[in-house]
Amino acid sequence: MDIILLGMQGSGKGTQGKILAEKYDLKFFEMGGELRKMIESGSPLGQKIKSIVEAGNLVDDDTVMQVVESFISDLPPDQSILFDGIPRTSKQSEKLLNLLVQNNRDAFAVLIKISEDEAIKRLTQRRICSGCKGVFPPSYKSDECQHCGGKLVIRNDDNLESIKRRLENYKNETTPVVNSFYERDHLIEVDGEQPVEKVTEEMIEKVDYLFT
Ligand code: AMP
Repeated sequence: MDIILLGMQGSGKGTQGKILAEKYDLKFFEMGGELRKMIESGSPLGQKIKSIVEAGNLVDDDTVMQVVESFISDLPPDQSILFDGIPRTSKQSEKLLNLLVQNNRDAFAVLIKISEDEAIKRLTQRRICSGCKGVFPPSYKSDECQHCGGKLVIRNDDNLESIKRRLENYKNETTPVVNSFYERDHLIEVDGEQPVEKVTEEMIEKVDYLFT
């Protein structure tokens, strides 16, 4: 069973996704991370994507679908996947679900719910490790990552203008995706405003039956 993690930017998908992936041996696919790798490569496509991502806009469906398609085709068929950051639009949802069916896969969605105010607060205050890409809240005072020693930086797209655009996109484009999983009875909802460990606890309690 594949898992599609849904939730507003800043809801903790990356943090919780890594825990879930490890617990159930899922291969973690992070769309935003894959796009940032393409940006870092400096290729012509990477340069084009850079300006889109930094402005908080969505990268075109063909590009993101190509990346996810190539990821799936490189995996053995019995390796389950955890998707973070895709689908973000109804079109992507339709394409991804078709792709999964073609590959004899099935997916359930997990929504980590937070309010828009909480998302803005977290996105304007968080820092990211430039090495392992871990996320750190304002309560973490050091400038060095506790896991890999990397330098903590503010993400290029974590400025207020871009944050507002990303949240607007979430409301307009991703909410219909959430609703479609709800309507198909394929959605598990978790309260993302609890302490990290509590979110993990609730999530595992609710998804465990999918893997047993
Ligand atoms: P994230 O790391 O998930 O916050 O994603 C960072 C940025 O990458 C987003 O604001 C978009 O510009 C781009 N991006 C990530 N996932 C997608 C997607 N599924 N479709 C289009 N653009 C995406």
